[in-house]
Amino acid sequence: MTAEAAAGEVPWLEELLAEVPPGETPDLHGAFPRLEEAQLRALETWGERRTVERGEVLVAEGEPEQSVAVLLSGRAADVEGFGTSDARVIRVHGPGRFLGELGVLTGQPSFVTGVVVDPGEVLGIPAERLRALAAAERAFGDQLLRAFLVRRWLALGEGVGFRIIGSRYSREARQLREFAARNRLPHRFLDLEEDPPAEHLLRDLGLTPEETPVVLFRGHVLRNPTTAQLAEVFGLRDVDPSERVHDLIVVGAGPAGLAAAVYGASEGLDTLVLDAVAPGGQAGRTSSIENYLGFPSGISGGELAERAEMQAEKFGARRDVPAEAVAMEQRDGNHVLRLADGTEIVGRCVVVATGVRVRRLPVPGLEEFEDTCVYYAATSAEAQQCVGDPVVIVGGGNSAGQAATFMADHAAQVRLVALESSLDENMSRYLADRIERDPRIEVRLHTEVERLEGERGRLETVVVKDTVTRELDRLPARDLMVFIGGTPSTSWLPESVTVDAGGYVVTGPAAARGDGAEGLPRDAALLLETSLPGVFAAGDVRSGSVKRVAAAVGEGAMAVRCVHEHLSRTR
Ligand SMILES: Cc1cc2nc3c(=O)[nH]c(=O)nc-3n(C[C@H](O)[C@H](O)[C@H](O)COP(=O)(O)OP(=O)(O)OC[C@H]3O[C@@H](n4cnc5c(N)ncnc54)[C@H](O)[C@@H]3O)c2cc1C
Repeated sequence: MTAEAAAGEVPWLEELLAEVPPGETPDLHGAFPRLEEAQLRALETWGERRTVERGEVLVAEGEPEQSVAVLLSGRAADVEGFGTSDARVIRVHGPGRFLGELGVLTGQPSFVTGVVVDPGEVLGIPAERLRALAAAERAFGDQLLRAFLVRRWLALGEGVGFRIIGSRYSREARQLREFAARNRLPHRFLDLEEDPPAEHLLRDLGLTPEETPVVLFRGHVLRNPTTAQLAEVFGLRDVDPSERVHDLIVVGAGPAGLAAAVYGASEGLDTLVLDAVAPGGQAGRTSSIENYLGFPSGISGGELAERAEMQAEKFGARRDVPAEAVAMEQRDGNHVLRLADGTEIVGRCVVVATGVRVRRLPVPGLEEFEDTCVYYAATSAEAQQCVGDPVVIVGGGNSAGQAATFMADHAAQVRLVALESSLDENMSRYLADRIERDPRIEVRLHTEVERLEGERGRLETVVVKDTVTRELDRLPARDLMVFIGGTPSTSWLPESVTVDAGGYVVTGPAAARGDGAEGLPRDAALLLETSLPGVFAAGDVRSGSVKRVAAAVGEGAMAVRCVHEHLSRTR
């Protein structure tokens, strides 16, 4: 929308702007800070001043953000669904505030439109200058980053963004919702089972329930899209495979892989990080990590991953999601990774940071409910899906304990089923204490799940057995959360990478000796080097690793040191 077309000439626009409330939206949690006079003066050299008219669009929903608009005078509003009959004003900003979202740094499209309400002046700072600006004006850089992260967090909670329409009992809809949630893409789910407007909306679009799940975002109507198609639309794929030989390919973007990407890119390596699902790995499956250094009140795994991803990107690392490595071979002295979609990418070195894959519950009936009512994570995304339900959580470790305390705030009833005979057998004391004191959590010790019952993919009962008395009990449950450990994600590695009896990657001197399995003995091996020179392993996937976020991060950083040594030996 141009300034000429805007002012008073478009009836719907005038109607929308007339609805904008007076004043400004309060600054929620630092999401909308007001820059001081001195800061505004310092920013002048980085951008361009211009006058703006009522109705002028500064940021367009669905488009990549080319610049950050700092309001010098006048007011602007964030609008969702701009130009449609569903348009709604989300927030209003006055002088000294800046518009924009995380996408200006990551290349994702904007999820709202920024439109001028009262004419005035803005300072437009081009996106490509932001990195240099953030380095030169650190206080502003910190404010900008924090504001964008909080804005994303707000958008996720408010259901701003694209729509996924489908049934809560559809496997495909569940996959899309999980992909969006894990990748922190703002969206709202419209449930065909319980949300009458969802069906009306489908009808208006000329679609039938059989064509769902459907994703709607501005001009895009995606019918039953794959997660890769969703990733394409929302700018998660940042790679041209034919491009070049990367110095370092990091496989897996959990804490270990993200650390390797940050250190690799910041130390000048041409670094590519890829993940089959989303950044965050197992850590992204929990709502609160309380023992990671520097976060005394805890941090959600999703937020930790988002921050790390931004950091990696800031240093120039590239990422590709979803990108599952299915095979690896050596060619011309390099490592060639084949992805599930058939593309190949080439690197001089590879850091294997593929962690562990969740272990499924070995009980009858699992398949019937797994895609609809069984979860392997407990974050706000799962909480939304299980709100008001009776929930059974299985597991006796910290991850099950964290899930129980978190879900107690959302579910109607939480039952924790554990094989252990005391809660602190495999759980940190602080968590066990918290659970024992929480009247909303019922604990069943020395108990295992016998079978699941329900109808047409809807879970109704979890049948459990007391392993001491052998008595069966029927626990009402609409959702089941499973946290019983995992198995290493190493099936894609070639035989030349030695793994131990459990399938974990052997590194260092043991790998050089060929311990653990058939391996090629070598004279020297770097600490995290596998039996295949130039291939390193970090984090939970590594044999003997500690299975903690901090340890994974440390190993990711160390692996980069090993990469440098390898490259200097072989160049
Ligand atoms: C629910 C839960 C709560 C936890 N809470 C805590 C806690 O409070 N404190 C703590 O210290 N630790 C905690 N942990 C453990 C911690 O999360 C892990 O130790 C840590 O995430 C390991 O990091 P990683 O990077 O090695 O592997 P992972 O986190 O497992 O990440 C591996 C990544 O690799 C990807 N991947 C796998 N195979 C492929 C492939 N073939 N191609 C491409 N990508 C692939 C996966 O999608 C995944 O994103 C928790 C774990 C869980 C499950």
